[in-house]
Amino acid sequence: MKTEEIIAKYPKIFQHYEGNPGDVNWFGVPKGWLPVVDALCGAIQKYCDSTESKPNPDYLEGSAYDPRDPRTHRYIQVPRKQVVCIQMKEKFAGLRFYTEGHDETVQGMISLAEHICSNTCEVCETREGLGYTKGWITVRCQNCAEIDGKVWLSREDWKDMHLNRAN
Ligand SMILES: [Zn+2]
Repeated sequence: MKTEEIIAKYPKIFQHYEGNPGDVNWFGVPKGWLPVVDALCGAIQKYCDSTESKPNPDYLEGSAYDPRDPRTHRYIQVPRKQVVCIQMKEKFAGLRFYTEGHDETVQGMISLAEHICSNTCEVCETREGLGYTKGWITVRCQNCAEIDGKVWLSREDWKDMHLNRAN
């Protein structure tokens, strides 16, 4: 799966995307995280395509409920606002997915996806034996770090190093 495929699959979410393949803001999402981003976008779009209950502006105060007369309905179902992604990228070994028009529910979905990505090798998708590369910090398993010749530290070593630096 490629970033372009996800953008094409969710045109409403990526309506601000104008086909600029060199742009780091859009193409900074590593391959190993794309299934998570795909699941996130699927959940967001399904939510945006659903309706929500709102007070009926045409409600006749004190009227008896009549299923055939909408003016007697205290609440009505209205479409949700479309959430739009304005930027997605990798930063400090984490996913950043910035949106417009989100509510708390969508924010929760994004937080969950960010948490999963932080615990997923950005190359091979494994969730075991993870650590970080030095330099441009990325989350990888040791094997995927060494293939690219990057200096790799396990999470334990990384934590020790940063604790020592702080002391
Ligand atoms: Zn890996």
